[in-house]
Amino acid sequence: MVNHATITDSPAILTPVPALSDNYIWMVQKNGHVIIVDPGESAPIEALLTHGLILEAILITHHHGDHVGGVRALQQLTGARVYGPATETLPYCDVPLREGDVVQLPGTGVRLEVLDIPGHTAGHIAYHGLLDAQTHVLFCGDTLFAAGCGRLFEGTPAQMLESLSKLGNLPPDTLVCCGHEYTVANIRWALQVEPDNVALQQRARDAAHLRTQGLPTVPSSIAAELQTNPFLRTTYAQIGNAASHYAATMLETPQAIFACLRQWKNDFK
Ligand code: ZN
Ligand code: FE
Repeated sequence: MVNHATITDSPAILTPVPALSDNYIWMVQKNGHVIIVDPGESAPIEALLTHGLILEAILITHHHGDHVGGVRALQQLTGARVYGPATETLPYCDVPLREGDVVQLPGTGVRLEVLDIPGHTAGHIAYHGLLDAQTHVLFCGDTLFAAGCGRLFEGTPAQMLESLSKLGNLPPDTLVCCGHEYTVANIRWALQVEPDNVALQQRARDAAHLRTQGLPTVPSSIAAELQTNPFLRTTYAQIGNAASHYAATMLETPQAIFACLRQWKNDFK
């Protein structure tokens, strides 16, 4: 999983490191330097750092324990700089961030921009930018998942819909790095909403195949989400009709359709 090469200007290596029960700590490795996103625990990263890699930065998307549980230990161990949302209470943070801020990481040459994406939590942020000349990347925590989205713990459906549409407007080839391996369950629900979506049917087969081999289903891409994620497809007639059928009333607005989809997903077993 980890490439130990330290050749000057080696390409960036993007790795989802499994943590806790179903979290991913995203790791970007370049020129022997490492950036991680949302360390819910420290042990999986400590194990990788024994190979002489330098942990340069820890990025946080939101305050939940399964995303920040390892921050303090890793910061104390390595002195890595910690970046996180300005409006949330975090165990530790050197650089508070809000929309429009830029994170420049010299060791890796990576430059990421910050988006405010409230809904799952009130101060949730995302990081997006180029890992290298070709590769767009998005770290979106618990806001956009593969074929799903986060629960609304601290925000309204309208806020979450707005946040998701910001992410949906990123370049289609952007790699979507989300915080959890929820894909198979999300697709099972999405097929209830859109049983005739051929891209979704194919995605169900692909995801099941990956999971039977113990492999991650992520990163996803913005293009794949636009084709298969009901929460990004509220303006399509078939999604509106399915949501209206579930609600047993005619839903007219994307906000009402989104709210119904979120409730439907919460109810789905
Ligand atoms: Zn969360
Ligand atoms: Fe989470």
